[in-house]
Amino acid sequence: MNTERIAGKTIEQWQKTLPLLKEIMAGQEVFWSNPECRPVNAAFKSIALSYKDVADAQARLKRFTPFIAKVFPRTRGDNGIIESPLRSIPNMKAKLNLQGKFPVCGTLLLKCDNLLAVSGSIKARGGIYEVLKTAESLAVDKGLLGFGDDYSIFATDKFKRFFSNYAIAVGSTGNLGLSIGIMGAALGFKVVVHMSADAALWKKERLRQCGVTVVEYETDYNRAVAAGRKQAQSDPTMHFIDDENSLDLLLGYATAAGRLKEQFDGLGRVVDEKHPLFVYLPCGVGGAPGGITLGLKLVFGDHVHCFFAEPTASACMLIGLMTGLHDKVCVHDFGLSNLTDADGLAVGRPSGLVGKTLGMLISGSYTMTDETLYRLLHTMADQESISLEPSAAAGLSGPTGLLNSPEGRVYIRRQGLIENMAEATHLVWATGGGMVPEPVMQAYYKKGGCSTGSGLISKF
Ligand SMILES: *Cc1c(COP(=O)(O)O)cnc(C)c1O
Repeated sequence: MNTERIAGKTIEQWQKTLPLLKEIMAGQEVFWSNPECRPVNAAFKSIALSYKDVADAQARLKRFTPFIAKVFPRTRGDNGIIESPLRSIPNMKAKLNLQGKFPVCGTLLLKCDNLLAVSGSIKARGGIYEVLKTAESLAVDKGLLGFGDDYSIFATDKFKRFFSNYAIAVGSTGNLGLSIGIMGAALGFKVVVHMSADAALWKKERLRQCGVTVVEYETDYNRAVAAGRKQAQSDPTMHFIDDENSLDLLLGYATAAGRLKEQFDGLGRVVDEKHPLFVYLPCGVGGAPGGITLGLKLVFGDHVHCFFAEPTASACMLIGLMTGLHDKVCVHDFGLSNLTDADGLAVGRPSGLVGKTLGMLISGSYTMTDETLYRLLHTMADQESISLEPSAAAGLSGPTGLLNSPEGRVYIRRQGLIENMAEATHLVWATGGGMVPEPVMQAYYKKGGCSTGSGLISKF
């Protein structure tokens, strides 16, 4: 009998009220629907954010487009907007449909954030946004800039010299550090990235090449963040980008929603009562999936259903939401290791900001083993010639899980969606992989091919 208590209750007591915890603690893949999920009208009564906040972020990114187009030539085709394409993945869908009793009907699309310019991952949304906002505030405060000016002035030596007096710091498992490091260095900031032990070597090297100071930790992500936060507190010229608590990061991510709507409009894809949209978002600390969910709910209302995806060993958001303990609980409390090759998702303690303020918008959450991630990554490369990093493959098991798990099926029924599933859009958010060096990608691919498991997803 385990006598350790978590928030006053023993593990056995927790398992009694939340039976799924037993499977989670055993490292099994699970699919959970969130009983606290509320219709948007009810949920937004307690969320102090509105579309105005997202529109403000969108306008800021627009102001920066002349600078971005100038400094990052790959964005010129999109006039300095950093946005990713949508792709249909019919071959992958056919492979997924060999799994499970209930096939994924409707349309399966991939949101290719692995192709985002500048940093090749979803962090090019939130991380870059907060760097730009920091730069704009400093420049406006010092009278160097008006909001109506041509922001290509940020590419001048004068501005770079100005920003060299300031520093930006962040704690990261890798990709957030990359996006902030690359954009921060492009503006002339000193950048310090506090990296957890699981961050890939090539990410650290790449950052050092940009002139970024990389501080390495033997510990996990949450400790790296805490160390960075502490250092920044004693330095008034240093802005700390707080992945666990930043509203600006959330709003940067949230701008994805309006752009997705434009892409859907362009394709004639409808989202309404008869055409539900299901979105599958890989989750680390929760900022990226949380911010995108916020944006999507503001744009598509109750017709969008957002599910978060986590490794079985790092199911921090799932445990935080399920127990209602949010950032008061970490995966180690429930015996999980937080050891996963999905470095973007290797987070043991979830963002309290996301769980507490946005929890009512989240439809549910599911987990997968690293083995499943590698198999999905391998199959994606074979079937669609798309190269993803392990974290980015986490969305791919969502549709099968939703349609085949007991909790997923109950969710569909409760939402009154059984009749509409043939008209559904399933959008898998592919969150990264664009900067992974070829030999590292080859090793990932190989690992997915060596797997002894029979199915693509181990659970079904
Ligand atoms: C960071 C990251 C995520 C998750 O974002 P969080 O804000 O940490 O939840 C997902 N996929 C990849 C590739 C990432 O780098």
